Amino acid sequence: MSNRIYRFFIGRYGVDDLYYFNLIVYLMLFICNIFLQSTIILVLEGIIVLVTFCRALSKNIVRRRKENNFYLKIKNNILKFFILLSKRFKDRHTHMYKKCRYCKTTLRLPLKKGNHTVKCPNCQKRFDVKCRRDEKIKVEVIKKKGLKGS
Ligand SMILES: [Zn+2]
Repeated sequence: MSNRIYRFFIGRYGVDDLYYFNLIVYLMLFICNIFLQSTIILVLEGIIVLVTFCRALSKNIVRRRKENNFYLKIKNNILKFFILLSKRFKDRHTHMYKKCRYCKTTLRLPLKKGNHTVKCPNCQKRFDVKCRRDEKIKVEVIKKKGLKGS
C-alpha cells in the first residue's frame, strides 16, 4: 500500500512558495466567511483549494516553475517598494530621493539647498536637480532638572 502511494508521488511538482501563498489566501477567506456566510467566497475557496492541489500534484514541472517564478517576481517588487518607502521615511531629514530622467533609477542624494548637477551611477548621464530645502539638523533637547525644594 505505502509503495503505491510512494509511486504516485514520483515526478509530481510538490510544494512551493505559491502553494503557501494560496493556503494563506484560503485561510483568510475561510476566516472572513465565518462571519460573512457568502456563497461567492465559498466557491472562491473551493477554486483556490482545487488549483493549489492540482498544482502540487501536477507532472508539468516546467509550467509550475514558471507560475511560481512569476509569483515571486511580483512579491519581490512589492517588497522592494515597501523597503524603499521605509528607507525614504527614515532618511527624510538628511536625504532626498530622485529618479534618473534617462534610466528611471532611484537615486539617494544628500539634502543641500540649491541647484546641483547629478551623475547617475547606472547610465552615467548627467542631469540637473533642484533642492528647495536644506538638511535639518536634529536638535537634541536636554531636559534640565528643575530645582526641587531649597
Ligand atoms: Zn540613469
